[in-house]
Amino acid sequence: MDDHVTPRRVVIIGGGFAGLFAVRALRKAPVAVTLVDRCAHHLFQPLLYQCASGILSSGQIAQPLRAVLRRHENLQCLLATATDVDVAGRVVHAVRPDGSSLALPYDDLIVGIGMKQSYFGHDEFAEHAPGMKTLDDALDLRRRIYRAFEMAESADDPQERAAWLTFALVGAGPTGVELAGQIREIAGLTLDREFSGIDPSQARVLLFEGSDAVLAAFGPKLARRAARTLGKLGVEIRLGSIVTEVDDSGLTVRRHDGGTERFEARTVLWTAGVEAPPFATTLARAAGAEQDRAGRIMVEPDLTVAGHPEIRVAGDLMSLNKLPGLAEVAMQSGAYAGRRIRHDLEGRTRTARPFRYLDLGSAAYICRGRAVVKMGRFEASGLPGWLIWLCIHIVFLTGFRSRLGALASWAVVFASGSRRERAFTSPRPQDDAADAASLSGTPADPKAERHDPSRPA
Ligand SMILES: Cc1cc2nc3c(=O)[nH]c(=O)nc-3n(C[C@H](O)[C@H](O)[C@H](O)COP(=O)(O)OP(=O)(O)OC[C@H]3O[C@@H](n4cnc5c(N)ncnc54)[C@H](O)[C@@H]3O)c2cc1C
Repeated sequence: MDDHVTPRRVVIIGGGFAGLFAVRALRKAPVAVTLVDRCAHHLFQPLLYQCASGILSSGQIAQPLRAVLRRHENLQCLLATATDVDVAGRVVHAVRPDGSSLALPYDDLIVGIGMKQSYFGHDEFAEHAPGMKTLDDALDLRRRIYRAFEMAESADDPQERAAWLTFALVGAGPTGVELAGQIREIAGLTLDREFSGIDPSQARVLLFEGSDAVLAAFGPKLARRAARTLGKLGVEIRLGSIVTEVDDSGLTVRRHDGGTERFEARTVLWTAGVEAPPFATTLARAAGAEQDRAGRIMVEPDLTVAGHPEIRVAGDLMSLNKLPGLAEVAMQSGAYAGRRIRHDLEGRTRTARPFRYLDLGSAAYICRGRAVVKMGRFEASGLPGWLIWLCIHIVFLTGFRSRLGALASWAVVFASGSRRERAFTSPRPQDDAADAASLSGTPADPKAERHDPSRPA
């Protein structure tokens, strides 16, 4: 007998790919859906690096959730961060942006909160080596990248100038490779002839990787091709390098041969590794669920948490058959989780099948006209890879206007190398001694070097 209040209440935590596709699968179901996210937008994470590097605007990769889902009459979107869950009482506790709390009762819960950057036990690195998971992160990276060239322009000390013109990326997975390619293109193409005190094309881009290949997940052939393309672009690849120290002037790495090396780089960006956010452990403890080494929640083949048919985990946060953290996995698992609730209501439980991921492959952009794509046994690189990459992203980018805008931006970058989205917001006060000085009316640093505008590049 169904003793639930009608309609059945479905709470979905996270409006990423998993949450979005779960909501869509429930559109016609007789349920009341509450989507709670700590951000008001759905973010297309695979293109974060294009926002960070000034090709795309924030509006082209992030869409307001309530606009994307405006036709869903059974949905309420709430801006709040889930902090706790009472599994016995079936209530999610969340905190609104002003600090006040919310209690969200549910009959079914879908959790799709994704993963966060991991510093492998060195969280202190985060201060000097930010990662890229959110829109704020991408805009912060954009500021750091373009500001570094500005700082180099006004630096009189050649060592300081060189350090501002050295960019270190940690992790040679798709994000590290994509960012490395972008920074070299910015240096060599976008900023061409814009500076008088420096030659931006001299910027060094160092890509550090602990294993012995870039883009290892794409297999040896594509990894070799990607490394070759990066090398031609001027990216210096340092394989077998483990970062042991990061501070505000650079980083130290330990090589496979045991030696250590120090690099002076004012911009260090971290793209290696992910781990589950704290809410995952809260949920796992409350539901008695197991977590894998990265903190992902182990799920049953139907994506439920063992012993809790009312709780499903989807997307990056679920641990099932070693599925990778890919957008397509999140979309398919989110859609499956939503569908299973709908099928339950329709009494179609006996025909229910376990979740099966249909592998649609993956792609990584390297530079203009160059990308690698792997779809099962099919592999492509260079221009064909880039064209496939283009089609995939046009199809999956959320919103027609975003697609159109992105196409126009890509055409401009492809044709001329120029980027329209280079504006960056003011640095936070703690980053800029000059701000503090102007507030107090005293010089920021009495020993500050005087800039000599006549110095040649
Ligand atoms: C830089 C980058 C590049 C990538 N490139 C690719 C690529 O080229 N191809 C590919 O297939 N995949 C790529 N991925 C991976 C892909 O983006 C993820 O697999 C996918 O976004 C996972 O979707 P998700 O819904 O599980 O989580 P997410 O998309 O991370 O969404 C999680 C949502 O949960 C919200 N949230 C988190 N915690 C809470 C909380 N406590 N309370 C409320 N809301 C919360 C977040 O705000 C977010 O909206 C990339 C990822 C990154 C970061």
